[in-house]
Amino acid sequence: MMKRPRSTRDRRQKVALWLVACIFLAGPAAVALSRGSGTARPLSYGQFRKQLERGEVASAIVGVATIEGTLRERDSSGAPVAFRVSRVGMEHDQDLIRLLDDHLPDGSYSAEEPPSPIQALVFPGAMFLLMIAALSLVISRSGGFGSAMAFVKSRPKLYAAGEAPVTFEDVAGHDEVVTELREIVEFLRTPGEFGLLGGRPPKGVLLVGAPGTGKTLLARAVAGEAGVPFFSLCGSDFVELFVGVGASRVRNLFARAQAKAPSLIFIDELDAIGKARGSGGPGGHDERDQTLNQLLVELDGFDADRGIILLAATNRPETLDPALVRPGRFDRQVVVDRPDLIGRAQILKVHARSVPLDESINLQMVAAMTPGFVGADLANLVNEAALLAARRGKTSVGLSEFEEGIERLIAGPERRQRLIRLAEKRRIAVHEAGHALVARCLPETDPVHKVTIIGRGNGALGYTLYRPEEDRLLHTRTSLDHAISSLLGGTLAEEIVLGEVSDGCTSDLQRATQIARRMVMEFGMSPLLGRLNYGREATSSGPGDSPWSEQTAREIDLEIRRIMDEAEARARAILETRRATLERISAELIERETLDGGALERILAESHPAPGAVPASASIA
Ligand code: ADP
Ligand code: MG
Ligand code: ZN
Repeated sequence: MMKRPRSTRDRRQKVALWLVACIFLAGPAAVALSRGSGTARPLSYGQFRKQLERGEVASAIVGVATIEGTLRERDSSGAPVAFRVSRVGMEHDQDLIRLLDDHLPDGSYSAEEPPSPIQALVFPGAMFLLMIAALSLVISRSGGFGSAMAFVKSRPKLYAAGEAPVTFEDVAGHDEVVTELREIVEFLRTPGEFGLLGGRPPKGVLLVGAPGTGKTLLARAVAGEAGVPFFSLCGSDFVELFVGVGASRVRNLFARAQAKAPSLIFIDELDAIGKARGSGGPGGHDERDQTLNQLLVELDGFDADRGIILLAATNRPETLDPALVRPGRFDRQVVVDRPDLIGRAQILKVHARSVPLDESINLQMVAAMTPGFVGADLANLVNEAALLAARRGKTSVGLSEFEEGIERLIAGPERRQRLIRLAEKRRIAVHEAGHALVARCLPETDPVHKVTIIGRGNGALGYTLYRPEEDRLLHTRTSLDHAISSLLGGTLAEEIVLGEVSDGCTSDLQRATQIARRMVMEFGMSPLLGRLNYGREATSSGPGDSPWSEQTAREIDLEIRRIMDEAEARARAILETRRATLERISAELIERETLDGGALERILAESHPAPGAVPASASIA
């Protein structure tokens, strides 16, 4: 295969880019060297306290984020061994000063002064100037201002067919998603035949999922499997200060893809351009609206039969302009979930392919230690563990490297969050088990399709998915009553099992109250208020503005209250009589993280009392 020779300009650009890279790398290295942490022994906070109590610490300097010092222990050259401890998350250890006083009575401890403002400013400032210098070198070397603009104009990245062959083999734990995407691969391979069979080719597919779950990877795998060129751009690349630049970039992208059809266009972070028009911060509106309009024009204009597929990714589908998700545009959404236990083990396996593992190691165990990790975290973890093993002169990676890798990855600001996640796992499990159990025990609710404690990108910590038997057009009073009960089941379960509720129930309560309110005010389902429609909630503000009397207003409140109370009693009775089942479901959830309808049925089949039997005390409504 022949390659295009590199021009001198390319080479100069490369030199300058290297310069930038070196400055980036040299900075932290210089800082690290100047602190001499290269030889310090890393200790955990717990180890440090133990050693302190045993009198093995000789001196300590307590910094904002670290404690550094020396041990009484000597190394081979007779010098005291230096140590280093991270105190992130432990800053509030009140005991520390007392311990230091007790065990370093000669006062050989001190606090580290925070870096002086000069130090803190001058160093990064100088780095910044250097970087600007290097960047301007890149620009001037690439041939004056005209091409400087072109440089800024970041052309779409093109991964030519065969250059970076990612396949579905490289994607683990997304079997359902892969099945859906295979259809697109088929289409890209033989665009003509699709039309012959009378099928309408897909046009735009939106991948929805949290960062790092593998959306970009999936898009590249589609291109790789189909063997077509892959044009990718990031949504934020389109959003420019200058009106019109983003729009022309969109035009350019589609023109290039069309010239190479069949091909795949991938727009990452679609929400950056696709935010609902007229929303968002001040300034830049026109620009974004123009870009979005251009995208809509291109979406409608391109001839799908020629074999161009548009994939896009976002983790905030709810912010997208409704026009984007209309039929004929991004009308297909594919959810890329965070991996559960099994998914995590599969992802680890993919990334451990090229790493020699210790015989004793069981990736299932590593998966169990990493709740909340997404694919990108797991790829990092394998990498980190391999580096640690190499540093220790080992020939294979063992469990201890994985353990330390996990600790390193969850260090820093995210650490606390993850630790909390571990502790909260039980609460989330109990909550979701409550929803599922109540729903399952009430005859008029939709069957439970799936319960999980793996959060989705939208802020939900866990969720219970119901599968309507058929799309319900009408809801009876009983089915609404039961829906409220199952909504309340989550919080009630927390109260019953954990003795206390949490604030994770806001949206449950909102939805439950809303149903109750509509039953009373819109559906005429309250015997007290009769079959009247009281309209929606009063929009007026003053107390005298309600279209109904104060007496009626009080009655409405009381009726909503009564419906809620009865629904709560019903749910409570179910959960209290089935406490053991509730615990069983939450235990399985903690262990397996996701239960499908079948697994839930199995647990219920083995438990007493049978789910169908609603306790007598609950049949008040
Ligand atoms: P996203 O685009 O969703 O933010 P990426 O596709 O960029 O995530 O993922 C980053 C990296 O994490 C990938 O290049 C890959 O190495 C790893 N990764 C993420 N998800 C998976 C997965 N399901 N299977 C294997 N590797 C994954
Ligand atoms: Mg991505
Ligand atoms: Zn809930």
